[in-house]
Amino acid sequence: MYKSSLYKNLLVIGGNVAGLAAASQARRVSSDLNITVLESGKFISYGTCALPYYISGIVKNIDDIFAYPVSFFEEKRKIKILTNHKVVGIDLFKKEILVNVNSSSENKFFGYDRLVICCGAIPMQHNIPGINAKNVFHLRNVEDVLNLKKYISLSDPSKAVVMGGGSIGLLAAEALNKLGIKVAVVEKADKIFRDFENEISTILHKKVKLDGIEIHIGCSVASINQDRTGKAISVSLSTKDENMTMDTDLVIVSTGIIANTEFLSDTSIELGINKAIKVTPKLQSSQLNVYAAGDCATVKNIITGKDDYIPTANNAAKMGRIAGENAAGGDLVFPGSVGTKTDKVSGLETAKVGLNLKDASEFGYNAFKISGSYYSHASAIPGAETITITIIVDASSRKLLGAQMIGKEGVGKRIDIFASAITGEMKIDDIYMLDLSYAPPVSTVWDPVNKICGKATLELKKRKF
Ligand SMILES: Cc1cc2nc3c(=O)[nH]c(=O)nc-3n(C[C@H](O)[C@H](O)[C@H](O)COP(=O)(O)OP(=O)(O)OC[C@H]3O[C@@H](n4cnc5c(N)ncnc54)[C@H](O)[C@@H]3O)c2cc1C
Repeated sequence: MYKSSLYKNLLVIGGNVAGLAAASQARRVSSDLNITVLESGKFISYGTCALPYYISGIVKNIDDIFAYPVSFFEEKRKIKILTNHKVVGIDLFKKEILVNVNSSSENKFFGYDRLVICCGAIPMQHNIPGINAKNVFHLRNVEDVLNLKKYISLSDPSKAVVMGGGSIGLLAAEALNKLGIKVAVVEKADKIFRDFENEISTILHKKVKLDGIEIHIGCSVASINQDRTGKAISVSLSTKDENMTMDTDLVIVSTGIIANTEFLSDTSIELGINKAIKVTPKLQSSQLNVYAAGDCATVKNIITGKDDYIPTANNAAKMGRIAGENAAGGDLVFPGSVGTKTDKVSGLETAKVGLNLKDASEFGYNAFKISGSYYSHASAIPGAETITITIIVDASSRKLLGAQMIGKEGVGKRIDIFASAITGEMKIDDIYMLDLSYAPPVSTVWDPVNKICGKATLELKKRKF
């Protein structure tokens, strides 16, 4: 337990993953701090990652995506929770934040000794004509999804356009497709899942199309066309070669996010990549008594050692805990992230960790990639499925720099082996011989992870780097 004689009031901005982790950890390590969480929305403690499954109906009841009610934090953890309290400004000199209550004209000041900012990210903004039509939706928080579900049940749409072919766009497309809505995904880049190598994203592309979802790559939404009531009825698309118009009953914009730090713009808090709050390993901002965690903060990339932006729930939870403990008097370090991610779209698990080939080469590594397809478990046992793996290796040090995978089973958890190997700076020779478990219904004698690294060692023998 830390004694906080010098500071009494801890304020946390944001009542979800990072914010509640910060407030809870601060309480675990300090019994005498006054801890208050200010949340701009109506809801706290929700599983953002489960939102697409509520759209499709896999999660039937919205209540199921909430982890803990306000009363849990207030009664069990003695943390004050103020919902509908939006922080609109900070006076770093006076150590006060300005808060707008209930979207009214009422503004209040709250003083702090220590502040933890965990206000997440917001969707990338676009100046596309018509983007403010009433049936254009984002997929970022509970309110967004409740609005979308309400619109779907009232309007019974039959066609939708999803802007963005990243994981959120595809999860949204899959959810709408499951509801019987004809979906077209429009992606500006020349492939969906653009951070993935082509051999992985192509497999996903084919499967998504097979499931009945249209994909238009290399294509941008130039305008969203509305009827007289302000409802979007079509989108105009432009590609390198042609322009076309596509009818639609709704549009979902999932074209990426940016750290939600606009309200800090007239403070001296330093921002970094993607407008995220630049933090030290102890998650302190450029103001020593102000910490930041989660999607609004930079993350140290363990491989490159540089500041990065890696907005995942797993990072937010850990960063929140460390920022909360340090704000309460602790001295912990967040080691950073190797960017471990997984998704499940169209029945395929995708996963990625570390650098792709382009980034690895840009960072100056003597990088090469190698791919292979293997059975997820012994082929004699029914249900064995192909897993395609690509790894990125630094030929000079023989260290693993990145790995990507796609397949029906055994992908998401296998990427965690690669995440551990990268974190431990293992060479491919050691991962080739790593003692991984085997039983016929679970894996193969040489696990796919061993196999692809074995293939890389052969490649290194063959090629002169
Ligand atoms: C649809 C979807 C699916 C996802 N799936 C996955 C997944 O499968 N795996 C994964 O690792 N990650 C996933 N993510 C990302 C993950 O949800 C985020 O990384 C995580 O929620 C970040 O936590 P956070 O606390 O930093 O931000 P948030 O969870 O966004 O919380 C920030 C909170 O701050 C509040 N706030 C914002 N501004 C203010 C203000 N000015 N004053 C007061 N309060 C404010 C917001 O209302 C919000 O409640 C997904 C995200 C989305 C949108």
